[in-house]
Amino acid sequence: MGLTPMMQQYLKMHEQVPDCIMLFRVGDFFETFFDDALTASKVLEIALTGKQCGLDEPAPMCGVPHHAAEPYIAKLVERGYKVAVCEQMEDPSLAKGLVKREIIKVITPGTITSDGAIKAKENNYLASLYGGRGSIGLAYVDLTTGDFNTTEIPNTPEQNELMGEIGKIGPSEIIMSSSLFKQSKFVHQLKMRFNCMVSLYADQHYQLDSGKEVVKEQFHVFALDALGLKDHDEAVRASGALLDYIESSQKKVLTHINHISFYKTSEYMLLDLSTRRNLELTETLRHVEKRGSLLWVLDQTTTAMGGRMLRQWIEAPLIDRDKIEIRQQYVAELVDNPGVLQDFKMILGKIYDLERICGKISFGTVNPKDMLSLKQSVGMLPALRDCINSIQAPKLQQAFGQADDLEDIYQLIASGISDDAPFVLKDGGVIKTGYNQEIDEYREAQSKGKDWLKNLEGAEREKTGIKSLKVKYNRVFGYFIEVTKSNLDLVPEHYIRKQTLANSERFFTPELKEMETKILGAEQRLSQLEYQIFSDIREKIMAQIKRIQKRAHDVAFLDALYSLAAVAVSNHYVKPEIADDGVIEMYNSRHPVAEMLMDEGTFVSNDCLLDLAENRMMLITGPNMAGKSTYIRQVAVITLMAQIGSFVPADSAHIGICDRIFTRIGASDDLTTGQSTFMVEMSEVSNILKNATQHSLVILDEIGRGTSTFDGVSIAWAVAEYLSNPLTIGARTLFATHYHELTQLEDQQPGVKNLSIGLKETPEGVVFLRKIRHQPADQSYGIEVARLAGFPKIVTQRAKAILEELEAEAPVSSLYRKDPAFPENDNQIGFFTEMVPKNSKPEPENEMKPAEKEVLSQICEADLNSMTPIQALNLLSTLKTELTVPETES
Ligand code: ADP
Ligand code: MG
Repeated sequence: MGLTPMMQQYLKMHEQVPDCIMLFRVGDFFETFFDDALTASKVLEIALTGKQCGLDEPAPMCGVPHHAAEPYIAKLVERGYKVAVCEQMEDPSLAKGLVKREIIKVITPGTITSDGAIKAKENNYLASLYGGRGSIGLAYVDLTTGDFNTTEIPNTPEQNELMGEIGKIGPSEIIMSSSLFKQSKFVHQLKMRFNCMVSLYADQHYQLDSGKEVVKEQFHVFALDALGLKDHDEAVRASGALLDYIESSQKKVLTHINHISFYKTSEYMLLDLSTRRNLELTETLRHVEKRGSLLWVLDQTTTAMGGRMLRQWIEAPLIDRDKIEIRQQYVAELVDNPGVLQDFKMILGKIYDLERICGKISFGTVNPKDMLSLKQSVGMLPALRDCINSIQAPKLQQAFGQADDLEDIYQLIASGISDDAPFVLKDGGVIKTGYNQEIDEYREAQSKGKDWLKNLEGAEREKTGIKSLKVKYNRVFGYFIEVTKSNLDLVPEHYIRKQTLANSERFFTPELKEMETKILGAEQRLSQLEYQIFSDIREKIMAQIKRIQKRAHDVAFLDALYSLAAVAVSNHYVKPEIADDGVIEMYNSRHPVAEMLMDEGTFVSNDCLLDLAENRMMLITGPNMAGKSTYIRQVAVITLMAQIGSFVPADSAHIGICDRIFTRIGASDDLTTGQSTFMVEMSEVSNILKNATQHSLVILDEIGRGTSTFDGVSIAWAVAEYLSNPLTIGARTLFATHYHELTQLEDQQPGVKNLSIGLKETPEGVVFLRKIRHQPADQSYGIEVARLAGFPKIVTQRAKAILEELEAEAPVSSLYRKDPAFPENDNQIGFFTEMVPKNSKPEPENEMKPAEKEVLSQICEADLNSMTPIQALNLLSTLKTELTVPETES
């Protein structure tokens, strides 16, 4: 026994999409078979049945109705499966033999476009990575909106910058060339951190020559220069592969993808992945939700497009002063006209997701209701423009006061599509009366026919005297006259019998038959015509898609500005002064999120001053719960807000632009990558030390906590020195630490200042004042707190004694040698003089004894990774002997 022909066809089709669950159209169902059926029935929770397939055992089968397949497909994709749709390509009733079938679409997390499967206020990005020798090409697209971007990122072993960039995009799917896919740790990290589908895409798709051709063709240019892609081969390869992938999954060319934007990551503030997460830009660390994030506070957008744009702004703060100030001025013009905000909101509220409607037009999935949404949205554009022109807002007026109203699009839909058109084209009544003569004629014929039928019933009743006679219609038998059994003797001769039922008989007459043909013919023709004319209108709009996209972008932009303005007004934010002087100064600033989560007026505001000279590093000491972490994050978040063009929560603020913000906050176990807390902490700090510049802002919270005290203090101390010293980095830094020893740095390292947070002791216990003051915290504070908490006196006394003993034995400052490289600054201590560039003072030659040098070099050469603890101990002992045995002159 062999497989049936249909099953053979099924298997052959499936060979084309081996990694997919294939939905195979059979009649009114999409069926899955064999393993696919087992998976689908489990995931979709639908019954598993069997089909005779020509083998001994029936094939496992599980299916969904074809007209309701979308949510099932979405569910499979959401669970991480790729779905291929295999359709019937001819009418089964007309097919000779086996029905012709083809795979018409492959649906994956990055290519799914159905409304139910994607979030309105978030982009759904599909990304492509090409691993080149020096750099990685990254391209990404949102198929629903056509947003297509590409860039190049240095290819480094750690891939920190790449991870940060992917964190900014948050793709749901990534395809990549083999050299990257081979790096299993990298692939694993991507999957875990971004919860996205990662797959290899064959290297042949990443070829340069074909990539160039595909890109030129999609974006309608003769040369890559026109797209800014000349000499960016890696970006071209990634983009070419991405376009290939879209084409192979969608099986069609998409006109709404008509603009490619090449950008340099250095045009935006660089934020590594942990900084993005630590600052809780779009979701919280703990619950991974929007509530409690910066986006949650700033997002008052009304349209989905505006919501997506605002999110993009937060993910990519600007670093160019002019660009920041332009956005800021727009926001200011709206803030200065608070009365207009209400109108703005009202107008924006009537605008639908134009970007995604454009996508649907291009995909050919736009329905009549979408057209009406498009009309309504376009119809609001003049009001939006008038709104801008009605206020004192020269900058906004310059940019948006004369914009294209898309009047022709409005008119086209207004004249072509009925105001009460249904969702589904097939339901009819889509094309407006008066738009097409032929349609009007058929409708007229149809309605005349229906009138005639209506009259027929009365007329026949009268003629025959059968009071209960009815004229009816059904799909199978068409129109007929129904007479109950008891009246059959009154039926006239010319009635022709059609069907006999239990209690009645059905008849027709030649006249009725003729009218039926007319009506049904008109209906069929009408349906064809409506389809044709609807497609025609769609094509006409498609030809103007760039204009609509441009205005959609404007609306999104205005909505994002509106949002920032509305938040600024309601939360009493001020316009920060943007500068290139490296000074960050804030008066009475508040944490934008913390203040929203607390009762109004209870958040205590604080000042901040950081600059590139005397106030480079603030060391904030003090006990737990004082408010250190909140304060240092607050400064970072406000700086970031200022750089997206937002107003900020403060009485006044001056923001010297930062190229990057780095944070190392709290001890978050990185379970996703399986690294220990301390290792994660150290690699994050290492990333900061390697990449921070004098223009960066660094936020460090409790560095070194994950190890023993001396170990931890030493690391924290060394890191503080390296960061604050302008010869090494000299970044503006806020450093919260519970290591009191570090407060000594103020006297020893220029630019370091001690801060602490005020506390008050009351008989009831300690009160945290949450006010920053320019002094170190009281060191014995922990014991004080213990006393207040009701410790027995004898225990606190003993604790104090131990503390004094410990301090006397090992004052931490004695751990550090004085540095002869800075003789003019006697207090200066530092580890990093060796790394300091040549312009620093040379180290005196005769400082170290030969034996000491020898020991040092042995330490440097020792390969700790390959040593056992015993070997290390032995080495240590040898070294110690070498140092203590008196040197014999040779
Ligand atoms: P620390 O890092 O010093 O342990 P946190 O920054 O975590 O302290 O703050 C502890 C708690 O104090 C926070 O949960 C918050 O509720 C409150 N808090 C912090 N800063 C302020 C402030 N400026 N005003 C009011 N409450 C604050
Ligand atoms: Mg803290």
